[in-house]
Amino acid sequence: MSEEVYIIGHMNPDTDSICSAIAYAEFKKQAGFSGNYIAARIGELNPETAYVLNRFGFREPVLLEDGAGKKIILVDHNEESQSIEGYSEAEIVEVIDHHKINFRCSKPIFYHNEPLGSTATILGEMFLSRTERIDKGVAGILLSAILSDTVVFKSVTTTDRDIEVANKMAEIAGIDDVKSFGIEVKKAKSSLKGLSAKDVIFSDFKDFDFNGRKVGIGQIEVVDSREAVDRRMEFIDELEKIRLEGDYDLVVLMVTNIMEEGSDLMVAGLTERIEKAFKAKVENNRVYLKDVMSRKKQVVPQLEGVF
Ligand code: MG
Ligand code: MG
Ligand code: MG
Repeated sequence: MSEEVYIIGHMNPDTDSICSAIAYAEFKKQAGFSGNYIAARIGELNPETAYVLNRFGFREPVLLEDGAGKKIILVDHNEESQSIEGYSEAEIVEVIDHHKINFRCSKPIFYHNEPLGSTATILGEMFLSRTERIDKGVAGILLSAILSDTVVFKSVTTTDRDIEVANKMAEIAGIDDVKSFGIEVKKAKSSLKGLSAKDVIFSDFKDFDFNGRKVGIGQIEVVDSREAVDRRMEFIDELEKIRLEGDYDLVVLMVTNIMEEGSDLMVAGLTERIEKAFKAKVENNRVYLKDVMSRKKQVVPQLEGVF
């Protein structure tokens, strides 16, 4: 039996991370690569991803807690701060991603990065060009991941290729109305009921190093903002707690309303950096940014620019 190669997405895995790991393991098998490729996860599934896997008949990937001494393929991320424990002692053999690159490697590897709406788009194109057929379920999870990451094509990160691959996957998966299916997927994680403020903030939370400053940015996507607005004080208190406990300079929660196409930012720490980055006034630790939906394109670069 050949050595295991684990395929992992980022911490606080989202639908793109999990579905891309599953689909890439499947691709390796179908395209005839030798090796024992295992889809893995480095955290708990969110309700949206659980809904998607259940809908298309997949089990959750195995949990991998430490990468030290293991062969690993990274999907949907490349940075150590977002990756597995033991990253520096792991052998990273490939990367497939659509994020900014903050990666070092001492030998040549297969590194596929493109500024597309999702990792799943890259994988969908790989399947279309390299395999005879695509399993209905694989097409379904790739479609779901594209819709999730592009916020049903509303995010500024969306490209024509994302839409094209999504439509092809929808056809194979037998999904007629792509947009309403997308809203259905997003709704699965939209409810905050029964979740503590901490669970909400950490459901999709990423750490960044901006010029030596530690910044954490969480994001939730909702189809209705009322629940989040009602709990605003609770979220802000929790952000402050996270800032102190984690020694952050700035902690942000983006509450992105996918119907209104805007984000409510709740912040703790260096709020003046938020004001500078977005040329907007932060009042009571909160500011609304119209048309801002993408953390990666509309928040991270702007914030990094003021550090
Ligand atoms: Mg992701
Ligand atoms: Mg992604
Ligand atoms: Mg995401």
